[in-house]
Amino acid sequence: MQNPLEEKLNNNNIKPTAMRILVLQYLMEKNAAVSLKSLEASFHKADTSTLYRTLKTFEEKKLIHSIDDGTGQMKYALCLETCNCVLADQHYHFHCTVCEETFCLTSQNIPSIELPKGFSMTQANLVLKGVCAHCEVG
Ligand SMILES: [Zn+2]
Ligand SMILES: [Zn+2]
Repeated sequence: MQNPLEEKLNNNNIKPTAMRILVLQYLMEKNAAVSLKSLEASFHKADTSTLYRTLKTFEEKKLIHSIDDGTGQMKYALCLETCNCVLADQHYHFHCTVCEETFCLTSQNIPSIELPKGFSMTQANLVLKGVCAHCEVG
């Protein structure tokens, strides 16, 4: 029986190393996007460049996507099973200004936008800001 984490890595053509399995597990346990800083805080024994390379490998292999939520720190979140990281797979993100967590809003895709003639879109960075359910009071 293969470990489901190993299987997920294999499915994305990523060689499952101990570090990669741990990082994947961490990403799966969080329901918000994570930054390199938060990874560092949870993996004291690993050095930053190893963690950074792990994230970059995951991103290249379309296991995670990066989110620029305007906080100055890149965040990373797991892609959906069906994601090919093409424009059609992109979704809105929500940044909570109270807990500073960033969430994927995967239930709807970004609608296609009418662009001026000659313009072509290659990337969408749509981050909504507000207060998440957890932080909303009363
Ligand atoms: Zn919040
Ligand atoms: Zn996302």
